[in-house]
Amino acid sequence: MQIDQPTLAAGAAFANAICGIMLMFFWLQDRRAATLCLWGSALLAMCAGSIMLCLRGVIPLSASVATGGALCLLAYGLMWAGARVFAGRATAPAIVVAGAAIWIAACLSPTFLSEMTTRVAVFSCLTCIYTLMTLWQYGQMRERDLRSRRPAIALLAIHAVLLGSRFAFAGILPFPIVMQGPAPAWVSIGVALLLAHYLSMAFLVTGMVKERQTAEHRAAALLDPLTGVANRRAFFERGVPLLAKTLAAGQPAALLVLDLDQFKRVNDTFGHEAGDRVLCEFCNTASPLLRIGDLFGRTGGEEFACLLPGASAIEAVRIAERIRAAFAMLTAESGGPYSTVSIGVATSDDVGGELSTLLAAADRALYRAKEHGRNRVEGEWTAKAA
Ligand code: GH3
Ligand code: MG
Ligand code: MG
Repeated sequence: MQIDQPTLAAGAAFANAICGIMLMFFWLQDRRAATLCLWGSALLAMCAGSIMLCLRGVIPLSASVATGGALCLLAYGLMWAGARVFAGRATAPAIVVAGAAIWIAACLSPTFLSEMTTRVAVFSCLTCIYTLMTLWQYGQMRERDLRSRRPAIALLAIHAVLLGSRFAFAGILPFPIVMQGPAPAWVSIGVALLLAHYLSMAFLVTGMVKERQTAEHRAAALLDPLTGVANRRAFFERGVPLLAKTLAAGQPAALLVLDLDQFKRVNDTFGHEAGDRVLCEFCNTASPLLRIGDLFGRTGGEEFACLLPGASAIEAVRIAERIRAAFAMLTAESGGPYSTVSIGVATSDDVGGELSTLLAAADRALYRAKEHGRNRVEGEWTAKAA
């Protein structure tokens, strides 16, 4: 099938324009996603550039080639900037416009303007470099939740190979689009491949933004907003599989239930904000005393829980005692409200391997700690042994 060249060029430019506008529209919904703005601008620049290139024969050659090529190269620079912003890095405007600037400088030379093969080679080379730089930015990211990242890298790699081949075959396949006559088959295929690349990238870039937002929302839904530690939901979501994995590996596990003492009095005496600060201080004190792999979370108002995989009863009590002593000392020395913590300990060896059973047992031990005067650690096995 042969397609009329103006139709082919207009169709490709139109598709790029629509995708560019859609990306800008998504960006307007969420201004934090600057990558969408940059990729959207890139597709709009690509649309304008390809129209200018296709006006060869209608407007002066120098205007068509210089402006069209520069706009297309600017588009590639903007795509690189979009990838960089998404990776959390600065955009470096000089690099964004470098390709376009080199192109315009080259177009000042009449020899360059008259040499189609050289122009194709320079253009392919510059776009290939930008594509590889864009690929590198996405390749550097380590976010597990970005499922669209790998397909984007694969597409960019294929695109770079095609641009590299275009560079190699510049002499045999110069760019012959003029605004009349049917397009040769290879031009139709080339334009279709380019279009498929830009449109797929637009979808994948939008996909990555959405995937990141979903991951952020999910992370926020699992964090306690006041203290920044895992909330009750996260504690159970992570605790159940962590406990099962620990026991399946033949290791014991211990659970601490921690409850701040007379906390209502702290609030009543010093105010709710001071109480909030004490809750944060408690988390800042306890977290560094835990081992890597321990799970700590806020399970209620002034109640916390800590799952210690692989910990024996002796180790669990040692850790609980460390937290209790450190917190009592901190609040005693801070000059703020004095507060202490009571801790109940239970182990899988004593009460079995269900998280709910461990929690119930640790709660009973905590109740005894409160009864015996607070600011102390009690273990459920103590009752058994007694
Ligand atoms: P006990 O030693 O028996 O645990 O006494 P308590 O006062 O700590 O226990 P109680 O259950 O009577 O009171 C808990 C208090 O914790 C009441 C509530 O106002 C306070 N609290 C719960 N969540 C928050 C919070 O997010 N911020 C602040 N400031 N206080 C909170
Ligand atoms: Mg309390
Ligand atoms: Mg309580």
